[in-house]
Amino acid sequence: MRCIPMTLAITLISSFALAEQRHASSHVHGLNHATVALEGNSLQISYEFPAEQLSEYDEHKHGEHKHSEHKHGEHKHDEQGDKNHALSEKLEAIDSVFAMVRLPKNAQCKETKVTHSVTQVASNDKEHASHYDALIESTLECSAPNNLTNISFEPAFERFDDLEKIEVEGLLGTRALSETLTVTSSSLAL
Ligand SMILES: [Zn+2]
Repeated sequence: MRCIPMTLAITLISSFALAEQRHASSHVHGLNHATVALEGNSLQISYEFPAEQLSEYDEHKHGEHKHSEHKHGEHKHDEQGDKNHALSEKLEAIDSVFAMVRLPKNAQCKETKVTHSVTQVASNDKEHASHYDALIESTLECSAPNNLTNISFEPAFERFDDLEKIEVEGLLGTRALSETLTVTSSSLAL
């Protein structure tokens, strides 16, 4: 059993804190957020996006199979619970961060853990009050992290038609980087 180095723990805590701060004000359709943290062989990637992107993806694939069933007389929070549940299922169908990113093969990164979460947009954002954000967090082990020269987000741009840009924040050991990627410039140089 290996201990998580203190620097990595601090890095992760601060990147989650940043993600939380963004959460309150950053539900913008077409804009996604990613964080990348590399410490030794351990790579963490989180990818956050408005959950509407899941619906779009779903309609592309299963346009004719939309449910028309409505449950009447249920409380509002139950409907929201249903929506949350439906979105969670769609999100969990994306079973790997490699649906969003591509890494150099010779860095030999293997995903060891992936978690999914769906959260409702803060109620002070009236325009998006019943909207949700989706988050995928992935932990990877890279046998040759020195070969990790770039991270391509091209798979995300291919998957989501309405994705315009991704704001990426990275921490590589002690080096911080921040970049905005677009469909024509979808690769982050490390
Ligand atoms: Zn929305």
